[in-house]
Amino acid sequence: LMEVFKAACSEGSSSSSDRIAIKADGKSYSYGQLISSALTISKLFCKDNGGETKKYEGFGSLKGARIGIVAKPSAEFVAGVLGTWFSGGVAVPLALSYPEAELLHVMNDSDISLLLSTEDHSETMKTIAAKSGAQFHLIPPVVDSTSATVASNQLQDNSFETEGKFLDDPALIVYTSGTTGKPKGVVHTHNSINSQVKMLTEAWEYTSADHILHCLPLHHVHGLFNALFAPLYARSSVEFLPKFSVSGIWRRWRESYPVNDEKTDDAITVFTGVPTMYTRLIQGYEAMDKEMQDSSASAARKLRLMMSGSSALPRPVMHQWESITGHRLLERYGMTEFVMAISNPLRGERKAGTVGKPLPGVEAKIKEDENDSNGVGEICVKSPSLFKEYWNLPEVTKESFTEDGYFKTGDAGRVDEDGYYVILGRNSADIMKVGGYKLSALEIESTLLEHPTVAECCVLGLTDKDYGEAVTAIIVAETEAKKRREDESKPVMTLEELSGWAKDKLAPYKLPTRLLIWESLPRNAMGKVNKKELKKSLDNQE
Ligand code: ATP
Ligand code: MG
Repeated sequence: LMEVFKAACSEGSSSSSDRIAIKADGKSYSYGQLISSALTISKLFCKDNGGETKKYEGFGSLKGARIGIVAKPSAEFVAGVLGTWFSGGVAVPLALSYPEAELLHVMNDSDISLLLSTEDHSETMKTIAAKSGAQFHLIPPVVDSTSATVASNQLQDNSFETEGKFLDDPALIVYTSGTTGKPKGVVHTHNSINSQVKMLTEAWEYTSADHILHCLPLHHVHGLFNALFAPLYARSSVEFLPKFSVSGIWRRWRESYPVNDEKTDDAITVFTGVPTMYTRLIQGYEAMDKEMQDSSASAARKLRLMMSGSSALPRPVMHQWESITGHRLLERYGMTEFVMAISNPLRGERKAGTVGKPLPGVEAKIKEDENDSNGVGEICVKSPSLFKEYWNLPEVTKESFTEDGYFKTGDAGRVDEDGYYVILGRNSADIMKVGGYKLSALEIESTLLEHPTVAECCVLGLTDKDYGEAVTAIIVAETEAKKRREDESKPVMTLEELSGWAKDKLAPYKLPTRLLIWESLPRNAMGKVNKKELKKSLDNQE
């Protein structure tokens, strides 16, 4: 990625360093401006590092130091990451949404020596930095007017010489989502980042003609790689929406492709989100009047590509989205540990309920249980984009690999007749053991979501003295359905109704035997439910 920025500025032609990399808050920032800011930042570090004023020594002067970056999605965030890399540091993106205790946990765990943030959060972050013993630096605002020549001169001044020596060095620590336990720090090198962005650029055909609408958090790989690093590698531009907003997204698509008018220059071409975003976008669409629906759907239709991932895309959501926008969502499978490894094709059939085939360069296989060989087993992955290690967890790192060097994902899956992978869920939380059967919670969730009353749903196996586990469905009801039933003063749904309805669709042993109706599901920043924790607390209540 650094090579891209370097090339953009040293190509000399102002056209490439002037190319817009980031749009945020109505402003545009070019590749040249970002690199110029990044260089300024990397010099800042060196001045204060270790309390002494050091001479700026160019690339590598902060080799290996962990540098925390906490800022809203912005040009400053990107400059912070690049600046860290220019000085040889390891970028650790942190979430603004973390409560202080969690921020401190991550900062202490990765032993952050410098914390970078922006003006708008400087007071809070200064205090937090002090508490964890880290230095604090402000990321100076990226100016949207620096000329390309300035950046290119700066580059030459500072002997920005990378020569490939650093490629195996750590570049990034991303914490896992913490869906199954405490988040683990995943260490990526420049090499693993490099191979991943190339893979994604090739698979999804990102080009300089693309403009990505970005509304994902930047402390997880979906927002970082799929929607930011890979597009930047391809010289696309990325537009940050300050936060996920259903009306904001629909509006931005409508603005891109006005009815009866030419598409705008900065028209959005690619969108990627987690399944719950699409659920919310569908709800938003349904609440519009007819005219607004027409202009929204026709605009959405004109994007080049829409993708989903981070958790299972329920079939009903996929089908509804297709009927509204004409887009068959491209679903793919990824993990912090290898970023993306399996994907439905850009061209070719995107099969609902599957995540597609291994990306170019990736080898995947299913490791079946010794005693039942029905094709179901743990998905194992070998990829040039595999992480180096879990930060400070050498034992866990070792245990995560098979003897022949495959990473064990902890997800169960199978391969269908066309070679497409089907994710059945986490070994530890989604695979329920009911009587003698092993059931996939994801499959049951996907079916229950087809019920008109069910807006959201989470299935898990609660401890049961007779069957080992009992299929338990937690549902959130559709607002309309709730209102209707309130008028009739009935519960919004009963177990008998739900299982009666589902009995033509699911084998008898897969039918829910317990039903809980909640106002919302406890989801983390990536829209996922920590089932292990939920199971523990529900089991304890019994
Ligand atoms: P932790 O490792 O801390 O428990 P996490 O596994 O949720 O958290 P991530 O690395 O962000 O952290 O998420 C990877 C997981 O997300 C995968 O192991 C898989 O379970 C799930 N996942 C990603 N994409 C899909 C998909 N398309 N369908 C189903 N599950 C998916
Ligand atoms: Mg995980």
